[in-house]
Amino acid sequence: MAREHTYNFSAGPSVLPESALIRARDELLDYKGCGMSVMEMSHRSPMFQDIFDDAVNKLKELMNVPESHEVLLLQGGASTQFAAIPMNLIEGGSADYAITGNFSGKAAKEAEKYGRVHIAADTSSTGHDRIPEQQELMLSDDAKYFYYCANNTIYGTEWQYVPKANSMLVCDMSSDILSREVNVSDFGLIYAGAQKNMAPAGLTVVIMDKSLAGRELSYTPTMLSYKTMIESGSMYNTPPCWCIYMLGLTLDWVKAQGGVKAMEELRNARAGMIYEFLDNSRLFKAHAKAGSRSFMNVAFRTGDKDLDAEFVKGAAAKGLLNLKGHKIAGGMRASMYNAMPIEGAKALLDYMKEFESTHHV
Ligand SMILES: *Cc1c(COP(=O)(O)O)cnc(C)c1O
Repeated sequence: MAREHTYNFSAGPSVLPESALIRARDELLDYKGCGMSVMEMSHRSPMFQDIFDDAVNKLKELMNVPESHEVLLLQGGASTQFAAIPMNLIEGGSADYAITGNFSGKAAKEAEKYGRVHIAADTSSTGHDRIPEQQELMLSDDAKYFYYCANNTIYGTEWQYVPKANSMLVCDMSSDILSREVNVSDFGLIYAGAQKNMAPAGLTVVIMDKSLAGRELSYTPTMLSYKTMIESGSMYNTPPCWCIYMLGLTLDWVKAQGGVKAMEELRNARAGMIYEFLDNSRLFKAHAKAGSRSFMNVAFRTGDKDLDAEFVKGAAAKGLLNLKGHKIAGGMRASMYNAMPIEGAKALLDYMKEFESTHHV
């Protein structure tokens, strides 16, 4: 099926802005007349340094990153940060973790190797169908940081408030970065795997308060030391050059759309229409509780495995791709990241309506 007939609801890697892909295609063989591709260029060349600086500056501008914070462009995916964060920030002490889904659970488990983990919340008993309220958070007095995951990609829940903690906030924004306005100075560290909203897989963005550098445990690998990466401008070794270039192209698109505010309006419109339908549906049910719902990943189901499978299959035949839920959650999941056009959500809604009218539970 040709691209123009599809909408890709993949949870990650995910849809990228078409304009970014077209520019990448046009510049693929010969970047700005330099006689080579960005893929073939030295990361130490002035030309690549410009690509790097340009991407970082655009991200700083779009997210309003204050002077106190540095943007790092790293490798290893979001999951490598599960270890890097405690190695750099726990200082042999403890940290508070809110477990609201798969990835925060993994992060807490990893952190246990490097310090004491205090579970501030855990929503696993109800299948991670909600986000805890502020007053439910069990905060300890001596935590070095409070860790949470802003948007739970698998379960389709999202924090609708920024928690107040006794220590600095560390946040995994892999699946909702650039989709809503965030006050970066509220956070000690924000990080995100790029493959959901920003670039191809292979790039991790870390935005951190520079004053946190230099606290790493003595055995922290050089490659995981934030201090090393800040001092070397993310180029202690070869960075993921192509992904950084693609990040720049995606950020140009975000800017042209009207920035993060426009992304936020778009996500509200996209997810809003699907949730409204789900709330009135006799066939489908949203997984997440109202007030905890993700605007990026809408998880839903019929309650009947075979019917769910039929829905996913029928959707694919119509060009609505990758709607099957994650294997640990089941059901369906529509991941609608920044680059998903409103028409994609409308096409999904039309199909859901049609499916409901022809099927009964
Ligand atoms: C996808 C995802 C991860 C894992 O990302 P990798 O880059 O594959 O390690 C972590 N956290 C969240 C919220 C995610 O959506």
